[in-house]
Amino acid sequence: MQYRDDSITPKITAYIGMGSNLADPLEQLYRAREAIAAIDDVTDLGISSFYQSPPMGPQDQPDYVNAVMKVATQLLPLDLLHKLQSIENEQGRVRGERWGARTLDLDILLYGDQSINLAELTVPHVGLAQRAFVLYPLSEIAPELNIAGKGDVKDLLKRCPLAGLKRLDS
Ligand code: ATP
Ligand code: CA
Ligand code: CA
Ligand code: CA
Repeated sequence: MQYRDDSITPKITAYIGMGSNLADPLEQLYRAREAIAAIDDVTDLGISSFYQSPPMGPQDQPDYVNAVMKVATQLLPLDLLHKLQSIENEQGRVRGERWGARTLDLDILLYGDQSINLAELTVPHVGLAQRAFVLYPLSEIAPELNIAGKGDVKDLLKRCPLAGLKRLDS
């Protein structure tokens, strides 16, 4: 019988940025969290508060609801990305114009302390250091984090205007 010894596969802590602005965004994020937690080799370690934020890019679309989820995983980065993309698709994601409205967007913000530069996957996520709707929820669940090449989350936060971000009561 073949089996894998889990004790020798390192568990990586990863952070996933979640966003939705269609079809009951809060419900979309709740469902997405369940779906992510249900992936084999992914364990739910918690989620930030939920935030409302004005859209980036095209302004003729509803505000977003955003959150950041912390997971432990033994999946390789591209495998994790592909699982997240399947969840986006299952929740009715339709790809239209860049930064257009969507039922669900799941981005890998951080994968341990790794820097990844593949055609399909850039980690840390490109927008991480500038986007209020990423930094505020991330700092809530990982206040002491340092991001290689970018700095301490605390310092990034100080330099990041709220830009209309509001924490939702939960
Ligand atoms: P942004 O990446 O600026 O937040 P977006 O989330 O709207 O924009 P998408 O249309 O969801 O962009 O994704 C475009 C592509 O980005 C995906 O097909 C994926 O291959 C690539 N990508 C690169 N790095 C990442 C990452 N860290 N997490 C998720 N997707 C990524
Ligand atoms: Ca799981
Ligand atoms: Ca995104
Ligand atoms: Ca995305």
